[in-house]
Amino acid sequence: SYDQNIKEIADKDKRYLWHAMQPYNEQSQPMVVTEGKGSWITDMNGNRYLDAMSGLWCVNVGYGREELAKAAYEQLTKMPYYPLTQSHLPAVQLAEKLNEWLEDEYVIFFSNSGSEANETAFKIARQYHQQTGGHSRYKFVSRYRAYHGNSMGALAATGQAQRKYKYEPLGNGFVHVRPPDSYRRPAGMSTEQFQRFCAREIEETILWEGKESVAAVIMEPAITGGGVIVPDPIYMKEVESICKRHGVLLIIDEVICGFGRSGEKFGHLNFGIKPDIVTMAKGLTSGYLPLSATAVRKEIYEAFKDQADYSYLRHVNTFGGTPASCALALKNLEIMEREQLVERSRMLGERLQTELQELLDHPLVGDIRRFGFLMGIELVLDKETKHPLPLADVTKVIADCKARGLIIGKNGDTVAGYNNVLTLSPPLSSTDEDVDFIVRTLKEVIYQQ
Ligand code: PMP
Repeated sequence: SYDQNIKEIADKDKRYLWHAMQPYNEQSQPMVVTEGKGSWITDMNGNRYLDAMSGLWCVNVGYGREELAKAAYEQLTKMPYYPLTQSHLPAVQLAEKLNEWLEDEYVIFFSNSGSEANETAFKIARQYHQQTGGHSRYKFVSRYRAYHGNSMGALAATGQAQRKYKYEPLGNGFVHVRPPDSYRRPAGMSTEQFQRFCAREIEETILWEGKESVAAVIMEPAITGGGVIVPDPIYMKEVESICKRHGVLLIIDEVICGFGRSGEKFGHLNFGIKPDIVTMAKGLTSGYLPLSATAVRKEIYEAFKDQADYSYLRHVNTFGGTPASCALALKNLEIMEREQLVERSRMLGERLQTELQELLDHPLVGDIRRFGFLMGIELVLDKETKHPLPLADVTKVIADCKARGLIIGKNGDTVAGYNNVLTLSPPLSSTDEDVDFIVRTLKEVIYQQ
């Protein structure tokens, strides 16, 4: 029978699949999803949910786009695979398209995941400095609370201790600075002073680490996975000029913020800065197939030209930029342009903020932060002390939302063991009714806590 079938799949799931970030115990039973359409997913039991996290911040154009499946199918039947030691049309076309989206001249190296895109960026940065005489530059500066990936280098750059301590030693030469979290700035400092102070800390770190030892600073335009920390433009401008002043490359991790999530094509375009390297994944294919990219400023690429021994990257990726993924990504970007989803993201984000603003009057809601159509709602026990709401209470909010058909996320100051920031990152293609549903459900749930 149908119920018997469901139970069998659940049992097999438990027996054969090792899940990410799920405890291994008798009670754990992940949702088995079967279908998606627009912003909604359906599980094996026929329950429907509005996925206000777009999976893991991925599905920018929404679920169930047949056009994307067709683009991949057609490419697979024509030419399924060739490595990018040589070339193929979808990769060339996509690299050109990404230049348009980046609004500047970049050369693109393709991989399969955000982590790999960041690893590639680190290797390019180190090799670039070797090439240009900066042999001592091998260190990377990143922020506490930021997530940059699961591989040893990207994890070393990650500033979340609880993800790291089981796997040490990680790569050498990764140092961390404080995130520009204005909500938790020291008493007596204005927001602007604090933002400048955080940028200054980066400069001091670059100097303290030793003369010309830092290769690059890596940061997201807004810290997403560590509690939705949105910097002031002044901070990003400062960081850009500090990097320039000290010959340090600026790597911007757009894995989550890219492709319209921030209300601009890329997050950094909100600040008018020009990164040396931009990494991207997730929204590049809206999650339909694996693909990531490391975009490198033309001038940096030029430093590799005619350098005998050094003129090529000693770095290859078997599946990176595989034709079907590139063809699908091109179609994905075409959909975003045709449906003006970047503009829609900005508009829906503004609406979400306006309509959720009144939640700030609730005793548990300490702060609401937003970067485009990506929101963080910080829950606290006490608005004066800002003591984070304990995990069990946050988990209840998430479960109450799910019981009403709304999936939201949580993250936060995970270094200290708190996950008190509710996160929203719905598909950019969400309908007005979808946003109504998110607002209504979230208010109902929070008002009854
Ligand atoms: N950078 C950021 C900002 C991310 O959020 C993630 C994934 N959540 C990554 C890198 C790593 O991407 P992936 O899981 O595709 O390796």
